[in-house]
Amino acid sequence: MSDVKNVVIIGSGPAGHTAAIYAARADLSPFMYEGYMMGGSAGGQLTTTTDVENYPGFPEGIDGPELMQLFRKQAERFGTGMVQEDVVEVDFSKRPFRIKSDATEVLANSVIICTGATAKRMGVPNEEKMWNNGMSACAVCDGALPMFRNQPLMVIGGGDTAVEEGTFLTKFGSKVYMVHRRDELRASKIMQERAFKNEKLEIVWDTVFEDAVGQDYVTGAKIKNVKTNEIKELEVAGIFYAIGHTPNTSVFKGQIDLNETGYIILKPGTQETNVEGVFAAGDVHDYKYRQAVTAAGTGCAAALEAERWLAEKGLI
Ligand code: NDP
Repeated sequence: MSDVKNVVIIGSGPAGHTAAIYAARADLSPFMYEGYMMGGSAGGQLTTTTDVENYPGFPEGIDGPELMQLFRKQAERFGTGMVQEDVVEVDFSKRPFRIKSDATEVLANSVIICTGATAKRMGVPNEEKMWNNGMSACAVCDGALPMFRNQPLMVIGGGDTAVEEGTFLTKFGSKVYMVHRRDELRASKIMQERAFKNEKLEIVWDTVFEDAVGQDYVTGAKIKNVKTNEIKELEVAGIFYAIGHTPNTSVFKGQIDLNETGYIILKPGTQETNVEGVFAAGDVHDYKYRQAVTAAGTGCAAALEAERWLAEKGLI
């Protein structure tokens, strides 16, 4: 733990790797905690996606995990040091900053936080028991499993993710119910049209999910119509949450300013947190756009800001 790193990057999604590419090309020898389990997996949320059709430069689309491998390769090519470990503790109260995983501890003059966000759960009574036994928060990761083939399935939510995941599930399930708590979707118009056109997708309006039904595996879902209060059981073999995300910031609580939902607060127009020398990029602060390309853009901006800050302070 003797040397002090110029830049430590925490997280390895599009924001983290782009920050690494820029910091490495600026000769800052960045060191990256790729993460392991905390945010789902190293490489971020794109590793749980299939086709990415909106990342510029890939006119035919690209597989999410493959795109993240390319990001990683590029960061590695310019000399980013990487460990596949979760950060479990940080101390930003003294300089150099201290960052700790279970196996490693490093000191850093600057830090770029790119830990992303994780899919939300609802916490229904049978959730723990049924998790991975028919319940999941990632249709794209789990939908193709044999247990869901040719079975009726259910996705919960009314946003773009719900439509995307619901549509994806129609490839495998006999039918997919999309259970939404209101009478209108939050999803973008183009996604809505996709949902309405899909004959295997049935939207169940004004309805909330109450619990999973089944002994060892999901066999049904208890749902309630919020307008009529009617409760019924839908026969389904799979229940997939698509109800939004929580930022992966628990390890930074008390160290930097977070908003009421846990997202990192940045100084307007910058990637700076309230602690000088600590920057953030990607979904960990951005609850508005949440796109791979915007995460990459802010990763670039954070690295440029870190470089300028280090130079101003005479640290490089
Ligand atoms: P959103 O926050 O947009 O939508 C979440 C949905 O879940 C809403 O319909 C919400 O209902 C519902 N919901 C939230 N909490 C609960 C709950 N406790 N019980 C029942 N329903 C609940 O999240 P998404 O993940 O869908 O999207 C996030 C961002 O990512 C958006 O900006 C989206 O556009 C983008 N995205 C883009 C994609 C694409 O372009 N291909 C694909 C996926 C996401 P209500 O509407 O009533 O609030």
